[in-house]
Amino acid sequence: MKNIQQLFQSEDGNITQREQLLGFVEKILTSMDSLKDPNKTMLGPIQERSANFYKEIMEDFEVPEEGRGMNQVVGELTDLMKGHPYHTRNFVTNVLPMASIPGVLGQLTNSLLNGNNLWDVYGPAAAESEVKVISMMSKLVGYDFTESFGYTTWGGQGAVFSGLRMAIAKQFPHAKEEGVPNNLYCFASENAHYSLLKSVEAVGIGSNHLVRVKAGADHSMDMEDLKMRLTEVIEKGGIPVYIVATTGATDNFAIDDVKAIKEMATTFEEKYNLKPIHIHADSALGGFYAFFNDYDFANNPLHFERDVLVSLQNIRERMQYISLADSLCFDFQKLGQTPYLTSLFLVKEGKYLGLLDLEDFDTPYVGNRGYGSYHTGYTLECSRMGSSIAIYAALLAFGKAGYQQLLANYVRVNLVFREQLAIRIPSLQVVNEPNIGPVTAYRYYSKGLNWQGEQSGSYMLAQVQEINALNASLFEVLGKHRDDVFFGDTTRVCTVAVSDSDELVPVAAAKFFSISPYTEVEHIPAMIDSLQQSIDTLEALHLETVY
Ligand SMILES: *Cc1c(COP(=O)(O)O)cnc(C)c1O
Repeated sequence: MKNIQQLFQSEDGNITQREQLLGFVEKILTSMDSLKDPNKTMLGPIQERSANFYKEIMEDFEVPEEGRGMNQVVGELTDLMKGHPYHTRNFVTNVLPMASIPGVLGQLTNSLLNGNNLWDVYGPAAAESEVKVISMMSKLVGYDFTESFGYTTWGGQGAVFSGLRMAIAKQFPHAKEEGVPNNLYCFASENAHYSLLKSVEAVGIGSNHLVRVKAGADHSMDMEDLKMRLTEVIEKGGIPVYIVATTGATDNFAIDDVKAIKEMATTFEEKYNLKPIHIHADSALGGFYAFFNDYDFANNPLHFERDVLVSLQNIRERMQYISLADSLCFDFQKLGQTPYLTSLFLVKEGKYLGLLDLEDFDTPYVGNRGYGSYHTGYTLECSRMGSSIAIYAALLAFGKAGYQQLLANYVRVNLVFREQLAIRIPSLQVVNEPNIGPVTAYRYYSKGLNWQGEQSGSYMLAQVQEINALNASLFEVLGKHRDDVFFGDTTRVCTVAVSDSDELVPVAAAKFFSISPYTEVEHIPAMIDSLQQSIDTLEALHLETVY
């Protein structure tokens, strides 16, 4: 038993066991540091994995008869780091952030305590941090903290799901027992994250009852289309229960107009005598720009450049209204600088969580005692990790000003990237020009075609498909060099109309997603050089296949 006990933290706080643990951590960090190179986006050489790779693993691995000893285990752990993507200055793929030190230490504290966030008797640290971060973020967005509440959950996906559960419960409190009526409908922009699709499938509403509202030229929800779709559904006897307003779309950073959506929902409720339609602002990604809601733009205390300031003001124009939504989300593992998985679901009126709660009878071994007063019976999870501890640490360490500087820098580098791209590689055209934030989506055109023409709907289906195919080959070229500069891509940044079909056609685009704290303006020219090389490769390839 004695040597098994050595695999645990000490019971009594002795120095020997502490130093042993620190020694392992030191080894892991040293090994990781030896693989780092600011000009690469990988820890050591890139490791391509064949389709066979995972099959072989399945064949080769079984639980060892005897424990292997910690030195070997640490060796295995450091091996796992080799070839792993790493968030250097050239890491501009999707929203895959580096975990900050406060975030990592918060997570470590959480792991060391290993409390269960299900009940404050078992996880007091997490319960306390959870209430702290709920309060901090409620006040930040402009919720009334005496009314609002929330919890940490499984991703932006979990928040969209929880919002839907609540939306149904508000209109149909007995749906928990009786099942969901078969005439409920949910609405979101065509640019919304697929979280809602999975959620409507999972709660049994069915994806045929998910109405995808068209997006306008700025990629945000087209209000006229929402109006038409709501009317259509209601007049055919459907009941709208849930509208998801995407505030910061994952691929193009479009921000739906929450104020207009709220007003429209209210108008429909009055006109058709409907129960309140729950509005969830899917602010998983973009909500962090609410850090500028009370920024003093006139005095500009952080000395942002003119164009950065104007862009931030544009974002604020829409973001200031997210508090009109009934629920929201902050994916701290995105722009909040904490490790996976640290998402916060916030509810404007916390009392509605009661609609989702279990009866005492159903939770025999936790909660409802004379001791402890925080039992999260309303979450879909039973045991819960204490991710609020990492969130709390990050909010304290960065403060508003720290987040403002990071978030403004994403905008700054995107502005410079767009400017230099337009000058140096005109065949790559920005397709989310009206939206500024952490991401620029750009698309390759040849033969005098361009985004303006394509967006106006004047191209034929075959032409748009051909441009998509060309961009798909660009993705392949970019992907090959991802250890130098790791660009992102998407097969559907938005859709366009075409002249010879009624179909809306998906538009593929490459992405510059600024997410690393190390990406600065001075690094942009080298990235454009790298893009230029990829375009040269693409054009050479393309010529070969044509002739
Ligand atoms: C990332 C994202 C999600 C999904 O969040 P996960 O944390 O990956 O579950 C949902 N909505 C938006 C807008 C997102 O950007």
